[in-house]
Amino acid sequence: MPEPAFRRVIVKISGEALSGPESFGIHQPTLERIAADLAAARALPVTIGVVVGGGNIFRGVEVSGRGVSRTTGDTMGMLATVMNSLALEAALERAGAPARTLSALEMPQVCELYTRQRANKHLAEGRIVLFAGGTGNPYFTTDTTAVLRAAEMGCDSVLKATNVDGVYSADPKRDSNAKRFDALTHQEAIARDLRVMDMTAFALARENHMPIIVFSIRDAGAVTAVLRGEGRATRVG
Ligand code: UDP
Repeated sequence: MPEPAFRRVIVKISGEALSGPESFGIHQPTLERIAADLAAARALPVTIGVVVGGGNIFRGVEVSGRGVSRTTGDTMGMLATVMNSLALEAALERAGAPARTLSALEMPQVCELYTRQRANKHLAEGRIVLFAGGTGNPYFTTDTTAVLRAAEMGCDSVLKATNVDGVYSADPKRDSNAKRFDALTHQEAIARDLRVMDMTAFALARENHMPIIVFSIRDAGAVTAVLRGEGRATRVG
């Protein structure tokens, strides 16, 4: 078996990826497929943490100004990430991968509180750690959370799972002339305003020299392929 390209990673999965063909919520077969993919990747000598988004349930920015403050909306969004994480934790355990959700927001009846030490302990014991509740602060995203946790946990990259096989100069679904990049720097991604991640996430990644690998989670085995340095992906940084 070839050596993996990475040893310790955060996989960022958007809420949208969990809704599969639906426009809202969790599509159970898609959840099971993603869980099976992550569980299979444990065959490699790689430590895996996961940050799940919440956009399939709630995004704070969508309700701000409509009778709900941005701060409250963002709190609702962070709670959505906890729901998704718990669903993925259960699916991972069913797929044979021990997993543990740690939330940045304290909710002792629901899951453990995130601390770096606790996360390290679970990772060292071979569990997949799901970092829920975003950063625990409004006005941030789960992309920023993924880069932040990757830096805190000493990871060597963030694997950003999307519905397309890399970074394009424009939306490939809308623009047939969109150019796909194999690799680019954080600075290029920021300067070209490529919206694969928000600017805060890119800036944090640039500052901490954290590579972001953008790949499609739609194909079975995609996580293992990226971890092996195979498959189609764009490397940012
Ligand atoms: N959120 C937040 N702080 C964080 C992370 C997330 O307030 O640190 C809220 C924010 O409202 C965001 C929502 O949670 O829109 C869901 O996260 P995100 O939009 O990143 O999910 P994704 O697009 O990856 O599904």
